[in-house]
Amino acid sequence: MPKAFITGITGQDGFYLTRLLLSQGYEVHGLVRRSSSVTRERSRLESGEADRRLHLHYGDLDDPTSLRRTLLTVGPQEVYHLAGQSHVGLSFEMPEATSNLTALGTVRLLEILRDLPEPPRFFHASSSEVFGQPATVPQEEATPFVPVNPYGCAKAFATQMVRVYRTALGLYACNGILYNHESPRRGEGFVTQKICRGAAAIKLGRQQELVLGDLDQRRDWGHARDYTQAMWLMLQQKEADDYVLATGQTHRVEEVVAVAFATAGLDWRRHVRHDPGLVRRGEPRQLVGNAAKARQRLGWQPRIGFEEMIREMTTTALEELEA
Ligand code: NAP
Repeated sequence: MPKAFITGITGQDGFYLTRLLLSQGYEVHGLVRRSSSVTRERSRLESGEADRRLHLHYGDLDDPTSLRRTLLTVGPQEVYHLAGQSHVGLSFEMPEATSNLTALGTVRLLEILRDLPEPPRFFHASSSEVFGQPATVPQEEATPFVPVNPYGCAKAFATQMVRVYRTALGLYACNGILYNHESPRRGEGFVTQKICRGAAAIKLGRQQELVLGDLDQRRDWGHARDYTQAMWLMLQQKEADDYVLATGQTHRVEEVVAVAFATAGLDWRRHVRHDPGLVRRGEPRQLVGNAAKARQRLGWQPRIGFEEMIREMTTTALEELEA
């Protein structure tokens, strides 16, 4: 039975990746912090036989000793590194912690893997934020890194270090350069979730209005279920490499609003207010990815469309708020 180890298993991508790996017959081991709501997250995962193949280990990316011990004990063939401070806006409030966790945390993990008797295959969740204010549209794997926020800088460092460990030290180490991907498991601080939950809360009379920043901002939004499928595919190839994972299409924030409110049976113009103070620093930008390499070499392409995804997020928010 193949064994995988996941950092960030309690996050959005950890949820979908765990389900995928369990369905493929893997034994799945996940790193969880003491502060994580483990019981709640665990109960969201598969039940029955698959659940017996899921093992959670207390630890922290800031604590390399326990991480090393866990990895030595588990002996995984594949490591998926998803843990991180994943919020761009928050990275301006806590740049040092973001760099420590996202940049140095990745190096700490690579150093441990390098010393293991049989180094496992390694996936790193990089981000389109490494491209920052890109000179070319769409971006691909060779597009230069010009990050414009602390989160992007930390990811750029970690991404380049993964390349160094692959080329100079021979590790099977890959970067997935991930564009925005959402789902009902998306954290509540992210705009899509804020909109879908806001529409649901207004529908149920729990909230009066939704206040948003720039409705014209465009994003390349995919679904986390599709992106975690590509993460797994990347570790099944003959050789390690980096891949852009994107839909290649952008949508405006206003389109998210329109689909979410229509799903909730509401006219969004009566409930949404614009606040210029909420516009993020470093915008606007043209982040849109070209996933041709992933399509050609991995046979991957996103399957869940934008509208279907926003409808799913809003419907789930309505169900959860009503429960
Ligand atoms: P997420 O939902 O915010 O999950 C982050 C995970 O990291 C959580 O499980 C969190 O654990 C864990 N974590 C945070 N600090 C940790 C620490 N010190 N030690 C161990 N674990 C720690 O993020 P996501 O959306 O699943 O994204 C997964 C990865 O992809 C992230 O690295 C993110 O930056 C990257 N990425 C995501 C997107 C996207 O659109 N979703 C796009 C590009 C790149 P707790 O439960 O304890 O908080």
